[in-house]
Amino acid sequence: MNANTANSNSHLARDFLGLFFPRYCLGCEDALVKGEEVLCSECLSQLPKANDWLEETNPVRMKFAGRMEVQHAFAFLKFRKSGLVQHLLHQLKYNNHPEVGQRLGAVFAHELAQRGFVAPFDCLVPVPLHRSRQRSRGYNQSTQFALGLASVWKVPVSESISVRKTRTQTQTRKNRWQRWENVRAVFDVAPTASLAGKHVLLVDDVITTGATLEACGGHLWQAGCAQLSIACIAAAQ
Ligand SMILES: [Zn+2]
Repeated sequence: MNANTANSNSHLARDFLGLFFPRYCLGCEDALVKGEEVLCSECLSQLPKANDWLEETNPVRMKFAGRMEVQHAFAFLKFRKSGLVQHLLHQLKYNNHPEVGQRLGAVFAHELAQRGFVAPFDCLVPVPLHRSRQRSRGYNQSTQFALGLASVWKVPVSESISVRKTRTQTQTRKNRWQRWENVRAVFDVAPTASLAGKHVLLVDDVITTGATLEACGGHLWQAGCAQLSIACIAAAQ
């Protein structure tokens, strides 16, 4: 067998395997080439990155001004209705593609590292889903993003520190204080969690008003964490 035949045979084998294990981009469905994982280079280059992550007055951090003390607060991407980010979040949350979250987390951690950011976090805590929702989805999408970040930073991710006690009730017909009480009562911290002296990074998928993160983060402060920071996949503006 000459080299050319061997080469075309290996291509055949790869294409044949491709019938069973399609390697295509979860952003645009084009075939992935060697070295690409989950998303193709074109989709990665088109991600609408916020790029303001390390600015003290970035819009995500400002959402918590006067509400809750946060050290760092950043969202990797800008969320727009209809568009690549919405599509990727849909793949992550509803199409059983946890790898989208992991890939975005790893890409984000590398972007931050390129800007000289050294992660000061002791543990990553995903905003919890209610048990029944996590069971039906099979995983927590925020945990997947956290796992991607953690794969670069080598920091533990704990799903058991923050707990969701109830499903969020409808917020309509409630005034602002009642809404806050409503979301605040949703979360708690596991009694076994030891947060003393720790810098916790709270991780969520999309930040809108920040009320969920504030409610969840408030419990982490009460449980004794030393510093709190926030990371999200995307921010709605
Ligand atoms: Zn693509």
